[in-house]
Amino acid sequence: MENRVLGLHHITALAGNAQRNFDFYSKTLDLRFIKKTVNFDDPGTYHFYFGDEVGSAGTILTFFPWGDRIAQGRRGAGMATEIGYSVPKGSLDFWIKRFDEQNVIYNKPAVKFGEQYLTFIDPDGLKLELTEVENDARKPWITADVPSEFAIRGFHHITLTLNSKTATAAVLTDIFGYHLQQQDVNRFRYVTDAVESAAIVDIVEIPSEEKGRGANGTIHHVAFRVKDDAALMEFRQKIAASGLSITPQIDRQYFHSLYFREPGGVLFEIATDNPGFMVDETLEDLGKGLQLPAQHESKRAQIEAILPTIS
Ligand code: ZN
Repeated sequence: MENRVLGLHHITALAGNAQRNFDFYSKTLDLRFIKKTVNFDDPGTYHFYFGDEVGSAGTILTFFPWGDRIAQGRRGAGMATEIGYSVPKGSLDFWIKRFDEQNVIYNKPAVKFGEQYLTFIDPDGLKLELTEVENDARKPWITADVPSEFAIRGFHHITLTLNSKTATAAVLTDIFGYHLQQQDVNRFRYVTDAVESAAIVDIVEIPSEEKGRGANGTIHHVAFRVKDDAALMEFRQKIAASGLSITPQIDRQYFHSLYFREPGGVLFEIATDNPGFMVDETLEDLGKGLQLPAQHESKRAQIEAILPTIS
């Protein structure tokens, strides 16, 4: 069977204060905090991972919380600009009440491609959506705060804002195996049938839109999922053959990755399922300790002294 891109793997965004970021995603949105590690290229900064119970691909949102030194970013062209999560049908009222109680800024629900959704922003200005989906079979992470009938299932879609969609759409269709499913004015919905969920990429095409500025409250990159290293290297070859430059394989401890900038300006990553988040912690202990990759373990004491305490 031909190797395919299996929808979204993870999305990585930039944040400011680490505690505030941790509180919003693990407490307000009630996602599981599955990994506390550092930015491998700058180990004085955390790298937080939020997802479902096991950190399934297609549920993982990660942050580099840079602290108060970070400048405010701006959404714009050449960027991923909205993160869409899937929630069960009938759950938006629960979320609106919760957002009211916790002072989360949101818009009133609207309908897109026949589905009702709620737009909101996180404390750093990152734009997110909850979309009501009829049948999302994914098992959510549940706590006493957010019961199963309302809990977030994982990603519904990612939106890219582009000055021109043509070259980016070609990467999605010709290399990644997505197809154009529907269009509404300047929003083009691309879907892969390789997976049931986290299968949607929306492109919003705005020729006059100013370029975005990547800093606090913006998305850094979007990672697509492949099953293993062989599939990863197959896609590396296809992308290189299309004329785009792409990195060698990089070991990200929990997955193996390639990065390339798609022609519209968005940083794309392709990441494997292997080895997964249980490589350094048990299922029960996910997210509990500070995990450092081998190259930084000898500096643990200095790193722990720099990083703010999170509780
Ligand atoms: Zn990534």
